[in-house]
Amino acid sequence: MYQNTQLYIAGQWRDSIQQQTLAVINPANEKVIGQVAKASLDDVEDAVQAAQSGFEIWKNTPAQQRAKIMQKAAFLLRERAAHIAELMSLEQGKPLKQAKMEVLSAADIIEWFSGEAIRSYGQVIPSRQTNVQSYTIKTPVGIVAAFTPWNFPINQVVRKLSAAVAAGCAIIVKGPEETPASPAQLVQAFHDAGMPAGVINLIYGEPAEISEYLIPHPAIQKISFTGSTVVGKQLAALAGQHMKKTTMELGGHAPVLIFKDANLDLAAKEMAAAKFRNAGQVCIAPTRFLIEKAVYEDFVEKLKNEVSQLKVGHGLDDNVDVGPMIHERAYQNIQKTIQNALQAGAELVCGGQTLEGPGYFIEPTILKNVPLTAACMDQEPFGPLALCIPFESYDEAVTEANRLNYGLAAYAYTESNSTCLNLARDIASGMLTINHVGLGFPELPFGGIKDSGYGTEGGSEAIEAYLDTRLVTVASRR
Ligand code: NAD
Repeated sequence: MYQNTQLYIAGQWRDSIQQQTLAVINPANEKVIGQVAKASLDDVEDAVQAAQSGFEIWKNTPAQQRAKIMQKAAFLLRERAAHIAELMSLEQGKPLKQAKMEVLSAADIIEWFSGEAIRSYGQVIPSRQTNVQSYTIKTPVGIVAAFTPWNFPINQVVRKLSAAVAAGCAIIVKGPEETPASPAQLVQAFHDAGMPAGVINLIYGEPAEISEYLIPHPAIQKISFTGSTVVGKQLAALAGQHMKKTTMELGGHAPVLIFKDANLDLAAKEMAAAKFRNAGQVCIAPTRFLIEKAVYEDFVEKLKNEVSQLKVGHGLDDNVDVGPMIHERAYQNIQKTIQNALQAGAELVCGGQTLEGPGYFIEPTILKNVPLTAACMDQEPFGPLALCIPFESYDEAVTEANRLNYGLAAYAYTESNSTCLNLARDIASGMLTINHVGLGFPELPFGGIKDSGYGTEGGSEAIEAYLDTRLVTVASRR
């Protein structure tokens, strides 16, 4: 049922001009399941030309009409969710129920941004003279180049794509070569909903070659990237040289603060699910568990009990909770990371082993008493690895939480109102969720600070990244 993926340029699916392709591998069995077209720079330029034509049409399409097409795409996505989830599970490895949730939440995101399309108001500004009227209008920034990774093949695209088309922009998405079929289904839903040709273009290829071509390209006005901090900094620097607007959604190393007054059962249950969702390959995954000393052993035991109930396996098998890592490189990296931490003095609570047979499977792993000298305490593990350390005081916990230059997500559990308020003030992260896992809904801001990037991909500010604010001031003469 898995099919090859072509490029989508000017409203048509097509092979690359040079007929080149890349293999797509199922990470659960390491078998090649299909091919994805690999764009040459001539294909990329075709996408730019198409986007220029698409933008001329789309920027002159009334917001209400844009919203209607978006709502239709959301409807089609929901209708096709079961099929798309299977494709996603095959190419990405995530359990079917998580894949389905991703497709359905993409539909919610599209719908939410369709509402933003019709509410992008300017302002009327009180004037200094009675015969002058000053106001702002919001206009689409132009053509967007978006670069998205494989961990959430649809969700990472849909946040950028929905905000861009809601604003009236055209977009070229450089999608993830590891997981090309599911973003293609997202684009197909827009195609079938009546999106004019050229407004959305989807390409795959050599990421660095494409970003180096598109970012300086005079036709491109806006860059949005999700991926590692290292690459994000390179792309932001290039964009800066060419004065392009950017949104950067980069890595994280989320602290989880467990205070002794917390509901430990709730915390263990929710954190086990959040940590090992998508095999831990999530930028907002809880990672450094900072646990108040009085409840340290108790909480680690509860977390272990929750984790022991997680079933690891092929995403399409029944009741699987944790799938494989995305590729061989990630699989090797996480094993090295665990070994390095154990050598540095960390203690293994559970997991740590690979599964026998093919597939990039690694057991959900908890380490405790991890010394700060272990590399994983500084570098994002991006895998199924929870790191536990004790703390004695609020200040010690906050200092450790803020020690790294990352600042994407943070989690905390406490029954104290004043601790909640203090954390809101003291924790340096773009998102803080206390006593529940409440991140990622379309109406909520989604983004980081410090090395985790800038700009938000959710909430009422998200569409602003795709709009220019222009001033008009008019004097009337009698
Ligand atoms: P990577 O840094 O090689 O790639 C990350 C993403 O960036 C991929 O989608 C890749 O195609 C893209 N990319 C890489 N170089 C690029 C370039 N020059 N121009 C444009 N795009 C480029 O890493 P990886 O092995 O795929 O993932 C590992 C790391 O990436 C993780 O440790 C994590 O920090 C980060 N990552 C973050 C997210 C996120 O949601 N923020 C998602 C995936 C990966």
